[in-house]
Amino acid sequence: APLPQDDPLETLKATFGFEGFRPGQQEIVEALLAGEDVMAVMPTGAGKSLCFQVPALMRPGFAVVVSPLIALMQNQVALLQSFGAPAGMIHSGRERSENVADWKAATEGRIKLLYMSPERLATPRMQAALKKLDVSYFVIDEAHCISQWGHDFRPEYLALGQLKELRPGTPVAAFTATADEDTRADMKERLFGGQVRVFISGFDRPNLSLAIEEKSKPDDRIAELLEDRRGSQGIIYCGSRKNTENLAEKLRDKGHNAVAYHAGLPDEERAARLDRFLSEPDLVVTATIAFGMGIDKPDIRYVIHRDMPSSPEAYYQEIGRAGRDGKPAEAILLYGPSDLMFRRRMIDDGGAPEEVKRHEKRKLDILSAYCEALTCRRNLLLSYFGEVRTEPCGACDVCLDPPRTEDATADARLFLEA
Ligand code: ADP
Ligand code: MG
Repeated sequence: APLPQDDPLETLKATFGFEGFRPGQQEIVEALLAGEDVMAVMPTGAGKSLCFQVPALMRPGFAVVVSPLIALMQNQVALLQSFGAPAGMIHSGRERSENVADWKAATEGRIKLLYMSPERLATPRMQAALKKLDVSYFVIDEAHCISQWGHDFRPEYLALGQLKELRPGTPVAAFTATADEDTRADMKERLFGGQVRVFISGFDRPNLSLAIEEKSKPDDRIAELLEDRRGSQGIIYCGSRKNTENLAEKLRDKGHNAVAYHAGLPDEERAARLDRFLSEPDLVVTATIAFGMGIDKPDIRYVIHRDMPSSPEAYYQEIGRAGRDGKPAEAILLYGPSDLMFRRRMIDDGGAPEEVKRHEKRKLDILSAYCEALTCRRNLLLSYFGEVRTEPCGACDVCLDPPRTEDATADARLFLEA
């Protein structure tokens, strides 16, 4: 079917069958259609792909999409093809003949989105060819891979910094879910020489209430908190394996259905406990960060932190596991100064280079400033990710029970400068 050429909403509906854009998507689509370079930061699952797929389908030529993993490319291309959108890929995991066929299809206008590995794009032969062809966009997915601060630093991404020189008129669009400030600054500098329009959106989780409690006798306090939450499911994150075990035992003593989860357990035991989590609607898991990857159960009603997480990113990711069904959910963090000491010691004892240690300590300080803050918790957290709000949320502990005398402004400043 022919694609409507000028209305992104029509393209969205016609190709993907979606009713409308999600918050943040349309602005990015419009900027790309207007020929601007963009850098977009949106959390996982927010819908970054559509932001470049829609413009790529609408513009002449084909978009080159760089992705760090073959598996990611395969998923996206398969998904696009299932919508009937013409997409192909070039990477080392395929037969040469398949790569050639997709390349030919792109050059002949039969493919609108051509995924490739950064290594492929970096070859002089590829660059020479792309210089002459009708490339609509360069898209860099998982763009944090260019930064040494991400856990995913990939040296082959560094070559992507030359795309603007290769084709000065072709818009470059970079996407990531990693929003910490240093990584953002790195991406901006390396990919765009500092000049790019940055879009940040989608970090707010309005159904999640946020609260911090001063920490004292945490295991007793958590048992007490769970009294009001019997029958619903939650995760309690702890800073050590021992803490998960002790807390689970304490909770069972008080009649709660609780089990510990950490990387020290044998594989079969971990699998069994995860199964229980998925099938027992009242099971509470006391866990280290080992419990997380791939946990997308929609009806987790609360995430409690017995101990302080390592960074604002870790905290955000962990509380983000609650309330994926959109119904009210809670995030409660028990905070005490000794946690800060504990975390600092962990960093010191870890084997990271000094520069990385400093970076990690800075994140820790930011998180502790967040815990001690007297302004709207949500706005503070969002501001860390670069999303700016002025109206207080009305649903965090600070908004619900505002401090009376303290200088809240000074407090926010401390957080931002930490
Ligand atoms: P991200 O790359 O940001 O992690 P994806 O682009 O993979 O997220 O999108 C996550 C999911 O959201 C996909 O299943 C996608 O089809 C869906 N999605 C994205 N945008 C919309 C929209 N406007 N309407 C409905 N579903 C959408
Ligand atoms: Mg993605």
